[in-house]
Amino acid sequence: MKKLKIASIPGDGIGKEVVPAAIDVLKAVSEIHGGLSFEFMDFPYSCEYYLEHGSMMPEDGLKRLKDFDSIFLGAVGNAKLVPDHISLWGLLIKLRREFEQQINIRPAKLLNGVRSPLVNPKDFDLIVVRENSEGEYSEVGGRIFREEDEIAIQNNIFSRKGTERAMHYAFDLAAKRNKHVTSATKSNGIVHSMPFWDEVFKDVAKNYPEIETDSQHIDALSAFFVTHPDKFDVIVASNLFGDILTDLGAAIMGSIGIAPAGNINCNGKYPSMFEPVHGSAPDIYGKGIANPIGQIWTAKMMLDHHGENEIGNVLLDVVECTTADGIMTPDIGGKHSTEEVTEEIIKRLKEKA
Ligand code: ATP
Ligand code: MG
Repeated sequence: MKKLKIASIPGDGIGKEVVPAAIDVLKAVSEIHGGLSFEFMDFPYSCEYYLEHGSMMPEDGLKRLKDFDSIFLGAVGNAKLVPDHISLWGLLIKLRREFEQQINIRPAKLLNGVRSPLVNPKDFDLIVVRENSEGEYSEVGGRIFREEDEIAIQNNIFSRKGTERAMHYAFDLAAKRNKHVTSATKSNGIVHSMPFWDEVFKDVAKNYPEIETDSQHIDALSAFFVTHPDKFDVIVASNLFGDILTDLGAAIMGSIGIAPAGNINCNGKYPSMFEPVHGSAPDIYGKGIANPIGQIWTAKMMLDHHGENEIGNVLLDVVECTTADGIMTPDIGGKHSTEEVTEEIIKRLKEKA
């Protein structure tokens, strides 16, 4: 029997509603699988924890988490209690950085029964691989005064190792999917980092002769994302471009409440962390209407990450049958509660046993 040790951090707001829901679903997954079990341990790290203890997690928090197989996180942030820069840097960004989660992956796919805002939604199924540790989000830079003016300088950092790592991840993923990688670039306007990005992309591509490639400037690519999302398989993007594309991906799926994500540690030294794209949604917290699908799909990505693709695919099929039958929360046009959707998914999963 394979056992996965999962650290669960529900965090703030609706994280406290959707994480327990997704854990119930994972328990049902293990029941029907037979050869897979989970050991969950809950960690209360959140803004409420901060108010009580003066930090988002204890000093030895990283040590407590580092030996888990994965971290399953809900959402972090409640600006009414704690300023966002404290809660994000004190927990979410700290975990991503300290556990060297250099890649962020976010699929976008049209679920049966869910209305996309696209005019002619095609049946798209794509995945964005975002470099998560360097690029445009660097701390290098500052302000200078020159000729009676104030100037802000922001340096972009692209290491060959970091860039190659993201690209290899994208190509390996495409090899298991539809064998196409698109590189998001802007080498016609950004004259140092992006030509370098293009060069590394071409070099890495040589190792994967069976994979088709193309390279598109981020502006045109964003437009194409909206008009022809069905033309993409895997897209590899820098930190900033990936950030923007993945929000766009969540939007064309129909709701941020269904979009999943994973932060991947590639060197195997630390756990990867799975957290949906949405935040703590304080506007709907406590109403019982948070869409649990983002968190449940995120659980499927965690299953995939641990080699359990087969059961992961069963889970996503069940989610899709549920939405196809109109059993869904208000954000995607339904009338059902978090609990009703979750129970229906569990019931249908068990019918698969
Ligand atoms: P953060 O800064 O933590 O990313 P945010 O304010 O940018 O938070 P969210 O918390 O994701 O964004 O909320 C954005 C909007 O989407 C809100 O109106 C919220 O109610 C809605 N929303 C987010 N997640 C869900 C969900 N799971 N189900 C239903 N609605 C959701
Ligand atoms: Mg947000």
